[in-house]
Parts: sequence; structure tokens; C-alpha cells
Amino acid sequence: MVVIIGCGASGMLAAIMAARQGVSVTVLEHNDRPGRKLLATGNGKCNLTNDNQSLDNFRSSYREEIKDIIDAFSEEELLRFFREIGIITKERKGYRYPRSEQASSVVTVLVSEMQRLRVRVICGAEVTKVSGNYSDYEVSYTMDGQKYTLKSENVVFACGGPAGERLGQSDFGIKMLRNMGVFVGHCAPALVPLLLKNPCAKTVSGVRMEADVTLTVGKESYREHGEIVWTDYGVSGIPVMQLSRYATFELEDDMIPVRIAFHFLPEMTDEEITGELTRRVNGEAFRTRSAEDAMEGLVPKKLLYVLLKEAGIDPEAPAGTITEKQLKLLKLQLTNKEFTVTGTRPWEFAQVMKGGVPLSAIDTKTCEVRGHEGLYITGELLDMDGNCGGYHLHWAFATGAVCGRALAKKSRSVE
Ligand SMILES: Cc1cc2nc3c(=O)[nH]c(=O)nc-3n(C[C@H](O)[C@H](O)[C@H](O)COP(=O)(O)OP(=O)(O)OC[C@H]3O[C@@H](n4cnc5c(N)ncnc54)[C@H](O)[C@@H]3O)c2cc1C
Repeated sequence: MVVIIGCGASGMLAAIMAARQGVSVTVLEHNDRPGRKLLATGNGKCNLTNDNQSLDNFRSSYREEIKDIIDAFSEEELLRFFREIGIITKERKGYRYPRSEQASSVVTVLVSEMQRLRVRVICGAEVTKVSGNYSDYEVSYTMDGQKYTLKSENVVFACGGPAGERLGQSDFGIKMLRNMGVFVGHCAPALVPLLLKNPCAKTVSGVRMEADVTLTVGKESYREHGEIVWTDYGVSGIPVMQLSRYATFELEDDMIPVRIAFHFLPEMTDEEITGELTRRVNGEAFRTRSAEDAMEGLVPKKLLYVLLKEAGIDPEAPAGTITEKQLKLLKLQLTNKEFTVTGTRPWEFAQVMKGGVPLSAIDTKTCEVRGHEGLYITGELLDMDGNCGGYHLHWAFATGAVCGRALAKKSRSVE
């Protein structure tokens, strides 16, 4: 008998893999239905894995352990698993989605497979406590105001972390595992927008644009390229969210400076930028136009206005009056616009958790916690936070599959 806490990505895979070999599985889920977070993934399209399986996309200090788990449930195997239960995928820039581009398709087939295998899924069940040790556990939960307890030799913590908004997340897993004597490292929001000190960000709120982004944390720098989104609190977009993992712990320490810089014209060389700006000041067609008009089209208008002001240029003044010094300052604004990062947005705006249970604490062939027989951990509770692009769901499915198969093997050896 197995009790799985959480009917999300990793919990469903663990349930299916174990039940396929005849293991009796009960899944407790506090939401009113399974896979609620899955429905919100990939903007409702569910980016379930990625064709680029380089291990650099799965970020953790435990590279060997990551490799063990991804090798055990590779992209090929993941796609075969989903094809067998009804999901064929479509690929965009390596990102894999269900052919329907509807996350609900993925949830539907997983739930159908659990039903076919007679997995007992109890929704509306809030797990409040797990006690015991060495294959003798009690899982307490409340449902409709009533308290219940299940006894089980095996318990799987598949209940994720606190990231995401109103999708059922909780810090239950972190707290309860610590309570049970399992080491859970420091946890913080990741894949999360950043808060900036400079108030000029407010003026450009809502503007989307491509940029090179460099995050500097203490003496280390990290770079990404892609579409950024200005917001009234700071900045978001995939490159910013991907970089956030490098600063999320450090931002808790006031002594570590965190800065972010944007290059708005990354496809142009330094010489090309100087030439273009000079032409727009001295050229016959530009000299008498306002500075704002003359620089039109280099970057979105709202941002241009801010950059001109920051360079000490009156946007209304004729372009021909811009001095050499002002032009240098404008170039700096366009190629290295810097902000102090003051923090990340809170958990509900994060896509994943950084930190968690170190992978050295589990047996990567089973996901069982070392020294805690019968206690398993899958998915986001484990210390892996990857790039955007389907790596987190792949991780959740892979750890779930590894755990479910191990439970099946264990039950066969007991018979
Ligand atoms: C908005 C958003 C979009 C995302 N998009 C993508 C994407 O496109 N691709 C990708 O790879 N990753 C994406 N992610 C990340 C990915 O969804 C997670 O990493 C993954 O779902 C983690 O799987 P899990 O099984 O560990 O936990 P979850 O999927 O979070 O499942 C945990 C389950 O446990 C339940 N639970 C929690 N506490 C209790 C309790 N006390 N009692 C009972 N049940 C409980 C929860 O309700 C939940 O159903 C996204 C995340 C968010 C927030």
C-alpha cells in the first residue's frame, strides 16, 4: 500500500507507474480536482518537456544525481509514455506541447489512466501530518471538517512547494519533512520577476521589447537574451525570470549588491550604434526635428522618452542641439541601462522553488530518503530548478516515474 500526498505532475506519474504493477495506491489531494497547477502551465498549453536535454538546463549542485534521474526517464521515454495514454506532441523551438495545445488534455489522460488502474484519488483531502518511520507511517488528513488517518508502509511527498498563485501550493511538504528529521535546505522563489529601485521603470510599465540582460550578483555576472516586460514594480519576461535564480538567495543579504543591466540594441556593433546616433543628430533630415522624433524607432517610444531624459536631453529640443557629451550618455543608456535589484516578487508570482531537499539525501534509483525507509520525495520538493522550457515538468514526471517503478519493484520483492 502506498499513500501519495499531492495529485500533481509527479504524484500522478508515481501513482500510475506503481499501480501498473498492481500496487494499491491512494492519492490525497487538497484541491477539488487533480492537476490544477498542470492546467496553468505553459500559459494553459503545458510545455511538458524539451528536445534540448542538455543537463545545463536542469540546474542544481547535484549534476550526477540529475543525470541518473533524467537517464532513467528520458525525453524519448516520456514522449512514449504520453503517446501510449493518448497525448501526441507538437514541437516549437524544441519546446514540447500536447498536439491540442491544451494542458487539460494532459490532465485528462493522466486522470483516465489512474481510473483505469483503479488508483484511489481522494480530492478535498488536506494532509495535516505524517508521523512514524521505517515503513510504518500514519498520514492524517481532514476532509469536510472530519479527521481521517491512513496507515501505510510507503508515503510519497509529491506535494510541491509554495510557488504559484492560488493553484493549491503550500509549504506543507517543507515543514513536515523537517519535522520528520529530513534535511530541507533553504528555499526561495525562482523563475520570478524582479523588483527594481529605479522609479523610471514605472513610466514604461507594460512595454515589451527584446534585450540582452546581464545580472550581476556580487562579483558574478550572468547573461540572457529575450523578451523583457517592464512593470510598475520592476521587470519581468523569460530572460529576467531565468536570471532570478542567481539572485534569489543573495537578495536576502543586504551586503550583496545585485544589479541588472539591459542592452537594447544587442544586434548592432558599438561602431554601428555610434554611427546611427551621430547621423540622427547631424544629418540634414534630422537636425531640425525634435530629439524624440529624431531618435524615433530605436526603442519603444515610452522608453525612449525616459532614456533621453536620463541622458540630460530635452525630448522637445532640436536634435541638432544635442551635445557630444549628451550623445555619449544616450548611447550608454541604450547599451548599458542599469538598475539596482531590490528583491523578487513573492511566492505567488514565482513559477518554481529554488532549494529544497538535497539530491544527496535520496537514492536516485528510487527517490527514497536515505535512512527513512518507505519515505519518498518527488518533484519540486527536490533541489532542482531549471530553465524555462519544460524542464520542471520533465523533472516532476521523471522523479514520479522513478519513484512509482521503485515502489512496484519493492512490492514484487515483498510478495
Ligand atoms: C504558472 C506556472 C506555469 C508553469 N509552467 C510550466 C511549464 O510550462 N513547463 C514546466 O516544465 N514547468 C512549468 N511550471 C512548473 C511546474 O508546474 C512545477 O515544477 C511542477 O508542477 C511540480 O510538480 P510537483 O508534482 O512537484 O508539484 P505540483 O504539480 O505543484 O503538485 C503538488 C500537488 O500537491 C497538492 N498539495 C499540496 N499540499 C497538499 C496537502 N497538504 N494535502 C494534499 N495535497 C496537497 C497540490 O494541490 C498539488 O496538486 C509552471 C509553474 C507555474 C506556477
